[in-house]
Amino acid sequence: MLLRYDARGVRLDEVRFHPAWHLLMQGVCASRLQNLSWQPDVLDRAMVARAARFILHAQVEAGTLCPVTMTHAAVPLLQRWLPDDFAGWREPLLSDRYDNHALPGEQKRGLLIGMGMTEKQGGSDVTANTTRAEPLAARAPGSLWRITGHKWFFSVPQSDAHLILAQSGKGLSCFLLPRLLPDGTRNAIRLERLKEKLGNRANASSEAEFQDATG
Ligand SMILES: Cc1cc2nc3c(=O)[nH]c(=O)nc-3n(C[C@H](O)[C@H](O)[C@H](O)COP(=O)(O)OP(=O)(O)OC[C@H]3O[C@@H](n4cnc5c(N)ncnc54)[C@H](O)[C@@H]3O)c2cc1C
Repeated sequence: MLLRYDARGVRLDEVRFHPAWHLLMQGVCASRLQNLSWQPDVLDRAMVARAARFILHAQVEAGTLCPVTMTHAAVPLLQRWLPDDFAGWREPLLSDRYDNHALPGEQKRGLLIGMGMTEKQGGSDVTANTTRAEPLAARAPGSLWRITGHKWFFSVPQSDAHLILAQSGKGLSCFLLPRLLPDGTRNAIRLERLKEKLGNRANASSEAEFQDATG
């Protein structure tokens, strides 16, 4: 269920799940489907071991595969490019814990990362994306940007951050959009509605507007 506002009309932009969802997420994260391949003491053939666990879990429940697949894809990028302000995310990114509290990432025991690429006019062709990113300081990896635009398919909106595509003025680029900013305030990611999907209903996918969000 999507909760856009609290009782006083303050924006929440949160998704509330059935308790069974959280139990399933604890299970997939304990199996490290979200990060097994990227552990420092990486097992030989960890990709194969992860794929086997993934296939086994898929026999049981498929919706929970989306959050762990996106996180698994994002971890190696973040290990390389995580800005200094987010150094505290490294440990929870590699943990085997599921933590659904709405807290800044460095205070959490486990993290989930989503992806925001698809726009109404930009599906397979993401170069048609219109979401804009404007630099707030000098252009450099890890500097702050203001993000404005929409995403038409924004799955796992409860993720701790999304990697999103936006036009930077010098072409399409990739930005880290945390759900909560380091000072604990909510980033300006407005969830417009949840998708009425034919399949994969257990996993929330949303339509989102970025209103001067911070990337
Ligand atoms: C359950 C679900 C969850 C999703 N979650 C996310 C998410 O979290 N984040 C996100 O960003 N997106 C998400 N998506 C969106 C998904 O990434 C898009 O559906 C995908 O990018 C394809 O875009 P489209 O559906 O608009 O298809 P279109 O771009 O309209 O393409 C339709 C068909 O035409 C083909 N095609 C397109 N362009 C060309 C071309 N130039 N030449 C030849 N063939 C072409 C495509 O291969 C495809 O078969 C999700 C989708 C689903 C169904």
